[in-house]
Amino acid sequence: MYNKASLKAEEFISHEEITATLAYAEENKENFALIDEILAKAELCKGLSHREASVLLACEEPTRVARMYTMAEELKKKFYGNRIVMFAPLYLSNYCINGCVYCPYHMKNKHIARKKLTQEEIVREVTALQDMGHKRLALEAGEDPVNNPIEYILECIDTIYSIKHKNGAIRRVNVNIAATTVENYRKLKDAGIGTYILFQETYHKESYEKLHPTGPKHDYAYHTEAMDRAMEGGIDDVGLGVLFGLELYKYEFAGLLMHAEHLEAVHGVGPHTISVPRIKRADDIDPTVFDNGISDDIFAKLCALIRISVPYTGMIISTRESKEVREKVIRLGVSQISGASRTSVGGYCEPEPEEENSEQFDVSDKRTLDEVVRWLMEFGYIPSFCTACYREGRTGDRFMSLCKSGQIQNCCHPNALMTLKEYLMDYASEETKRIGEALIQAELNNIPKEKVREVCEDHLKKIEEGIRDFRF
Ligand code: SAM
Repeated sequence: MYNKASLKAEEFISHEEITATLAYAEENKENFALIDEILAKAELCKGLSHREASVLLACEEPTRVARMYTMAEELKKKFYGNRIVMFAPLYLSNYCINGCVYCPYHMKNKHIARKKLTQEEIVREVTALQDMGHKRLALEAGEDPVNNPIEYILECIDTIYSIKHKNGAIRRVNVNIAATTVENYRKLKDAGIGTYILFQETYHKESYEKLHPTGPKHDYAYHTEAMDRAMEGGIDDVGLGVLFGLELYKYEFAGLLMHAEHLEAVHGVGPHTISVPRIKRADDIDPTVFDNGISDDIFAKLCALIRISVPYTGMIISTRESKEVREKVIRLGVSQISGASRTSVGGYCEPEPEEENSEQFDVSDKRTLDEVVRWLMEFGYIPSFCTACYREGRTGDRFMSLCKSGQIQNCCHPNALMTLKEYLMDYASEETKRIGEALIQAELNNIPKEKVREVCEDHLKKIEEGIRDFRF
């Protein structure tokens, strides 16, 4: 029985409800009166239910689809402005006891090099990341209670926060590790993590069990209920995601929104972010074996519809996507992107020798951080290295209220300009610096409150004098 407020996976992600939703969407995909009503509701920026959003996903009528895209763009501008937050993944260990059939870290893969960073190696990797200009990391690890126990992850987080190289610092550590216990989530919270990210991979239980044939990740309910345990452990910001390509995208889309509705119903706050990874080629993995791959157009439509269905949830695009795809979808509502990523365990400080490949998947966007920052600016965006919200305690529903109140322009916008200024002063090439300085000058005018603008200008001067880490 479908019940969004239930704590049981099979009830809040009910297969019957998804099947009924997909049938409803199919029946109504040309019901233009209903579609126009849903579009009008979306325009109010209050979000859409999984049923409403699924009807829009099924609709193929060109003018209405065009309206979905325009609305996603407008909504992004309204709530997120033109800022894009930057981050990088850091792979700690690829030891794993699971059997995920799409992931090269699966236990039976004997030809991938198994690696786990020592604390000394973490110092070197994080120093290299700081020297690029990164301030925000997403930690990644396989699931292995012997090689990567929670104590190891906690020690790594401590080490990362303690490294201060030149003007560098990692100010926010997000964590993407396997589903765990409330007690362990509490430890992660106490270690000062930002968002806890866990991809559902697929919401389709039967497929999920086939795709995760062995290991602790096989347990669908334990995995699906992880975000509830994380929130019970005190983590306010959780990040959802589906690995597109494993199952039918319409099924996943409905499941994803039902998961968001469930978190809102039970915890009073929806997901902080949604990631939209697509399967990539990797050691031992041929993505064409999975026959639910989606085209770039469907991918863009999914991004646009996530944007209008959950307007207050950030959206993340990784370097799994090429520069071209990123160009297509960023304007549709993406709020965070990674730059200059390595998906190997180690590899930031010096490239991994070919015979020791430990990569999780092929990266499509191979540009340096400086190139990504410059490209974003040339494209009309403000690359932001801001981590202020979480450090000021604006997490969970407090962040959502900031977003809903429209005060972001007086808060996130100046923070973005100040962190971009730090980047320009400390890490940028001459050309990037030139473009960035002009952008900051122009964007100062877009801070609505005069007082905030003055304080921001003063902070920008102080950054030039060598002082760092201002925030609203
Ligand atoms: N071990 C943790 C877990 O099971 O959730 C951490 C996550 S893993 C390091 C990060 C994510 O990479 C996975 O959740 C999966 O969605 C994604 N991934 C795995 N194999 C992939 C592939 N071949 N292409 C693209 N993404 C992949």
